[in-house]
Amino acid sequence: MNFLDCHNHTAEWSDGRQSIEQIVARAKEEGVRVGLADHAGLGDYLNSNDRLLAYADYLSQYPVARGYEMDLGRSFEVAPEVRKKFDYAIGSVHGIEINGVRIGFSALIKYLKGGLPDYNPGQFIKDWDEFFELHLEVLEKEFAAGNYSILGHPTMLPSLARSKNLDECFPEWWEEKLVNLLLMYNVALELSNRWKTPHDRLMRRALDSGVKFSVGSDGHEPVKTCALDYPKEMIEKFGVREEQIFDIKRKIEAQAN
Ligand SMILES: [Zn+2]
Ligand SMILES: [Zn+2]
Repeated sequence: MNFLDCHNHTAEWSDGRQSIEQIVARAKEEGVRVGLADHAGLGDYLNSNDRLLAYADYLSQYPVARGYEMDLGRSFEVAPEVRKKFDYAIGSVHGIEINGVRIGFSALIKYLKGGLPDYNPGQFIKDWDEFFELHLEVLEKEFAAGNYSILGHPTMLPSLARSKNLDECFPEWWEEKLVNLLLMYNVALELSNRWKTPHDRLMRRALDSGVKFSVGSDGHEPVKTCALDYPKEMIEKFGVREEQIFDIKRKIEAQAN
């Protein structure tokens, strides 16, 4: 399979630590096609249609697929003519508002990187069922309003700190509803190399239901960019066929303006 790594970040447009030239070089080294998806949302540099247009124009000078990673729950309305300039939109959740207070996931990210061993999301999240309901509400609202192709790092959620056993971190009712939402809105589930998500049980459920999968390194620096070990392992292990993997129709090349 000639994979399309849909999810990478640059220093120019969001929080990557690499240039687009470095990303293109990494794709060549790894023998994959590459897509860019810098952060977009009310809290990001890409916080307006004008900036998204400038981003699309910039990307079109390179042999890359054009995407953005919208911060679900802090999104803005992307005009149809702007959305058309992109091959796909990733939607990702990076925080959840509970009773008017936003629980950001930056502490979780530190924990997952090994830097915050005492991380205890139960301090802020008293009712996990409520948390998962709110998560699904955000997805439903955003998927209905925006034209999303991919759900980024689907299980990068604070409940990861609840147990070493991933099956215990996520309720099955949530997995079922999540899969139904993805089907309803034709959104692919990202196989994320950076976050090693989804776990086996959710993968099996999604596959059996006919959900599509995208692959993403979520690369922020060259060494991790276009590295797709985890997605490839999951595709192999579960026998995912090529037609079940999200891709774009156009040939990826730089466009003369
Ligand atoms: Zn993200
Ligand atoms: Zn990302």
